Amino acid sequence: MAASVHGQQQQCRLRDSLAAELRSQVTPDALVLLPFSAAYRRDIVLRSTNFQSYPQVIVHPAKVKDVVAAVRFAAKNNLTVSVKGTGHDYNGRCSADGSLNINTRLLNDVFFVVRQNKTFFGAGATFGDIIKPAVLKHGRAIVSGHDLTVGPGGCLLGGCHGALARLHGLGADNVQSIVLVTPTGQLVKASSRGVHQMNTLPNGDLDFKEGKQITPDTSLFWALRGGGGGSLGVVVQFGMQLVPAPTAVQTVTVTWLLYDSQGKQIRDIFDIFVFNASFWQALGPRWAAWSVGSVPRNCSAPLGISTGTASSCAGQAALSFVYVGDDPLAVDKTPGIRAILNYRAPWVSDMTYYSTKTSYRSYYDFMYHNADTSNYQRQFVSNVFLSPQDMNPSATGRLFTALETMQRVAAVPLAGPDSFETLGFVASLVGGGAVPAHPEAAKTSISRAFRTFAAELVLTAGGKDPNWDLRAYQAVSDAIAPLYKLYPGSYQNEVSSAEGFNRVPDWQARFWGDNVARLLAVKRQYDPQGRMVVPYGLGWSQQGQ
Ligand SMILES: Cc1cc2nc3c(=O)[nH]c(=O)nc-3n(C[C@H](O)[C@H](O)[C@H](O)COP(=O)(O)OP(=O)(O)OC[C@H]3O[C@@H](n4cnc5c(N)ncnc54)[C@H](O)[C@@H]3O)c2cc1C
Repeated sequence: MAASVHGQQQQCRLRDSLAAELRSQVTPDALVLLPFSAAYRRDIVLRSTNFQSYPQVIVHPAKVKDVVAAVRFAAKNNLTVSVKGTGHDYNGRCSADGSLNINTRLLNDVFFVVRQNKTFFGAGATFGDIIKPAVLKHGRAIVSGHDLTVGPGGCLLGGCHGALARLHGLGADNVQSIVLVTPTGQLVKASSRGVHQMNTLPNGDLDFKEGKQITPDTSLFWALRGGGGGSLGVVVQFGMQLVPAPTAVQTVTVTWLLYDSQGKQIRDIFDIFVFNASFWQALGPRWAAWSVGSVPRNCSAPLGISTGTASSCAGQAALSFVYVGDDPLAVDKTPGIRAILNYRAPWVSDMTYYSTKTSYRSYYDFMYHNADTSNYQRQFVSNVFLSPQDMNPSATGRLFTALETMQRVAAVPLAGPDSFETLGFVASLVGGGAVPAHPEAAKTSISRAFRTFAAELVLTAGGKDPNWDLRAYQAVSDAIAPLYKLYPGSYQNEVSSAEGFNRVPDWQARFWGDNVARLLAVKRQYDPQGRMVVPYGLGWSQQGQ
């Protein structure tokens, strides 16, 4: 028996007779995995390996028809349903103890209707599966997260920001239709034209032809685009806007080498980060920027900021900018960027910068491939949205204090193979531009804090060694707690919490702002039995929360 990290049921296994019934209802290529089998054990490993749940049964549908059968089977046998795409969620939300878990990986067909600038893809495709042919064959892209191994299920339903967001809005804004199996087992399409019935072809695939309109009400579409993954049904297909693939992607990374990585110098780095926020916001929407920092493995300093890839932590701070446009001379032509490159401060011992230009159609090359299984780790993450008004001098002190807290609690040893692999902050700046201004913005359930943020500050600690869990969890929990009090919004897709740690206060308002009541009403309407279970998802309740 194994206890869940989210304090739900304990491990149990679907009766053999019921498993046989389920097998008889899905197509021969679908997989039905039961606890204790080797395939089941492989399947329950998530990218954040500290999260693990034990469904009663796992189904890999081979056809859309299998999803309908699995959800109806769950309803008939009073099982809860959880949904997994890539398993990348930082909170292990794609699986739940005792549930019937639907793994969408086999539903990964990708279609392009280039003349209409549209793509349709199965919910089991990864962003890599979509972006590679989009860029290389069609010179198009989609707004996604920046990692090719992430999937659309969780990312698009929760918001999804990446390098193209300032130019084209969030991923959720660019979703035009969502075909899903509702918690009551109906196959429907939600779009700006309401909800339509959908059918499957005789071979079990989705029939693209729209059936009759069930309702003109667009609440379901509104709730799906921002309400988060897994709560309102099992998505089988997304329809999404294609955008032109940037042809001259350039990255500029400025790295300041510090004399040491303590005290005032780190504060100065935060000052740069905070004071430059308005400048970053004023950059054209083709400029996305990330300021990246973490204390890497074998760090010898008590507090350091470094690029996540550095092998030592001699005290580095890095700002990264990404240009996603078509002008190969954009770096030289952008005065603000040149000013940053020429910046010298007395406390900086040295400064390097490199600029990389990628070739035509290489937006695909720019994207990261960061999460094959060798990158799986025990990761603990929290974040807050900082608005432009929050980016003032007092923010420097607060952020600095948060990092100091993390460092103190984690008490990273001077060196050694067993220290944390990630500890620190990542501030991704993708606010502004089309994020607040996208024409679809008001028709999604993305919170106002997400729409108006200047930077999302992510605190993260983790590594491979389970012995570090307690300190990693404690470090992030203690550091984020005061920031939660100061900044009311967080990105639901970049939060992890475990029993007793990071109990995100007022989490519904934090994730969905003013939209909570309407979202819960949609959840009650489409999932009256509470069939879909997602920790820290719509309708989830836990004692003490
Ligand atoms: C390496 C890495 C990089 C990342 N980079 C970014 C980034 O650049 N931008 C960004 O916005 N986010 C980013 N994220 C966060 C990412 O958005 C979340 O981890 C997200 O939950 C991943 O969705 P998934 O479907 O891949 O994962 P899963 O863990 O499989 O699912 C996540 C949630 O979505 C639900 N879900 C999945 N598929 C479906 C479906 N078919 N129907 C209904 N619900 C479904 C699940 O039930 C679960 O609640 C990153 C995460 C990682 C690990």
